[in-house]
Formats: sequence, structure tokens, C-alpha cells
Amino acid sequence: MSDVLNYQDDCLFCKIIKGDIPSSKVYEDHLCYAFYDINPQAPTHFLVVPKAHIQSVSEITRFNEGIVGHIFTVIAKLAKELGFAEAGYRVVSNIGEAGQQTVPHLHFHVLAGRDMTWPPG
Ligand code: AMP
Ligand code: ZN
Repeated sequence: MSDVLNYQDDCLFCKIIKGDIPSSKVYEDHLCYAFYDINPQAPTHFLVVPKAHIQSVSEITRFNEGIVGHIFTVIAKLAKELGFAEAGYRVVSNIGEAGQQTVPHLHFHVLAGRDMTWPPG
């Protein structure tokens, strides 16, 4: 993927990926980075982000869609390894203002370790 090193200087998650801001790493490969959320909403709550700076799900196109499949493969693998695949869990991506996205770098929340409620707030 050509935009893998497309870091944005003013982006919090780009800084975390580069290591300029510390994070508690769950997993890393050449395409994505996973780290624990600083404000956990479940006993297990981590974020999986592409290393490429993509703003949100709304910026996914046929040119960069491969990263989404890769991230979900990673989530499925981590869910098994961390032991919550069988019990179940939730994957969430907030998009834009009404979606309550606060960091404009595509990320998937992975929440586990409690029974979730529906509908989400
Ligand atoms: P969202 O509101 O969907 O954009 O999600 C952003 C998430 O990033 C929130 O759940 C925050 O708690 C989390 N967050 C913000 N800053 C940090 C940080 N420095 N390290 C880990 N997670 C963070
Ligand atoms: Zn970024």
C-alpha cells in the first residue's frame, strides 16, 4: 500500500504509531497498530488503527479497502488469543461529528469482557 507512511504531523494516532506519544501496545504489523484505549469502556478495550492516515470509514475506497479486511483478520486473531472470541465482543467505528468521532484517524474499537447493551448511545 503506497500510503503506509502517510503520517499527518498534527494527528494524535499518527504520533502514537510513530512512538512520539506513548501507548500500551497490543499488536503491530506493517499495516496496522493496536493499543489499549486510555479511557476504557469495557474490561478489555483497545483500538486497531491503520498505519496509513485515513480519516474515517467515509474515506475508504477501492484503493485502500484492503486495510479494512486486514484489520478485521487481526481483530479475529486477537480475540482468540486474548480469550474473548467465544464469549463475544463488539467492534465499533465512530464516524464524523454525529457519530461522535473524536480522533480523525480511522480506528476500530474492540470492546470485550462484559455484556454489551443495545442500542448504543
Ligand atoms: P473516538 O471517540 O471514536 O474517535 O475514539 C477515540 C478514542 O481514543 C477514545 O476512546 C479515547 O479514549 C481514545 N484515546 C484518546 N487519546 C488516547 C491515547 N493517548 N491513548 C489511547 N487512547 C486514546
Ligand atoms: Zn493519523
